Amino acid sequence: MTYLDRYPEALMNTFGPPRLALVRGEGAHVWDESGREYVDLFGGIAVNALGHAHPALVEAVTTQLRTLGHVSNFFATGPQVELAERLLALAGGRDGRVFFSNSGTEANEAAFKLTRQTGRTHVVAAEGAFHGRTMGALALTHKAAYREPFEPLPGHVTWVPYGDAEALAAAVTDETAAVVLEPIQGEAGVVVPPDGYLAAARTITRDRGALLWVDEVQSGIGRTGEWFAHDSELAPDVITLAKGLGGGIPVGATVALGEAASLLGPGNHGTTFGGNPVACAAALAVLDTIEKEGLLDAVVARGARLSEVLLAADEVTDVSGRGLLLAAQLADETAAAVVQRGQERGWLLNNTGPDRLRFAPPLTITEADVAAFATAWPGIVADPGDA
Ligand SMILES: *Cc1c(COP(=O)(O)O)cnc(C)c1O
Repeated sequence: MTYLDRYPEALMNTFGPPRLALVRGEGAHVWDESGREYVDLFGGIAVNALGHAHPALVEAVTTQLRTLGHVSNFFATGPQVELAERLLALAGGRDGRVFFSNSGTEANEAAFKLTRQTGRTHVVAAEGAFHGRTMGALALTHKAAYREPFEPLPGHVTWVPYGDAEALAAAVTDETAAVVLEPIQGEAGVVVPPDGYLAAARTITRDRGALLWVDEVQSGIGRTGEWFAHDSELAPDVITLAKGLGGGIPVGATVALGEAASLLGPGNHGTTFGGNPVACAAALAVLDTIEKEGLLDAVVARGARLSEVLLAADEVTDVSGRGLLLAAQLADETAAAVVQRGQERGWLLNNTGPDRLRFAPPLTITEADVAAFATAWPGIVADPGDA
């Protein structure tokens, strides 16, 4: 019996059947249990920033585990303090404080609890928003099919059309605790708001005394060719991070800046694993490697080329996104078939909807891999029935 055969008898059916059982990875390449090789163009959903088995990540994790693997939050560790300092520096060097956790949804839970400490409860989020699956983060997630089976959820949430500054201004009142926005909506299909939208959100929240919370769980840590998808001039109150931060080791971070940094105090929140030295060492290795290998520039170059390649196909009507967080809009609802054909030809693809594909490959993806994809793509995206 293969792992794929054994899976449904042992794992809860929350994700539907897995596409493949993977056994090994190197760079942007992975191998399945039958030994077939694939190029991974969605990087474990924008997580494998350094690809698979990057020596710097392996070294950092094994060295740290050999030295000190876990302590509770009764104790401090070097990697935890250093990572917090690094994230604050990347966030514009403002005064701030970090809370570490293990996932995106947990980073958002901490931020959500932090907003309650303002004494207000109303939160404004965006249509199409995805913030996670635990009850608090789920309460802010827009998709009714995810939320409604689990209601009642923490309430007092208003959703506004994403990218519409006037609608946002109308929704935020003097009783609003926070506005939460993804700088680029990932799960919604890599939706980029109009220029000036986040800046307008900053003005609106500042005027009403509300916090501005940017969810960079998917878009942050180099994915767009910058450290964050929002400009540090924006001066948000809260930034949440996860996915790419640990390069595959689970780590989430809630970065609170300025006065928001002291909203959560002793006894307000906690976690056993959050800030674990192995996870923090992994994140430090990711940040170091992005710097040492010049990956921000590489992301811009590879992203521009990938975007060109995608758009060159007749079946693609538009490409959205920045850097290596891209989506291809298809003329027809063929995305599932395209993903399937991609897999048959050795490319791991991802669709966010029936007519939309998302690309979030490792930031380390090589020019050669992108060139090979340029050759393969027309055959993957074309409906063989049309030939
Ligand atoms: C994936 C994602 C989350 C949830 O992260 P998990 O690690 O799956 O809990 C939250 N916000 C955004 C923007 C995401 O893309």
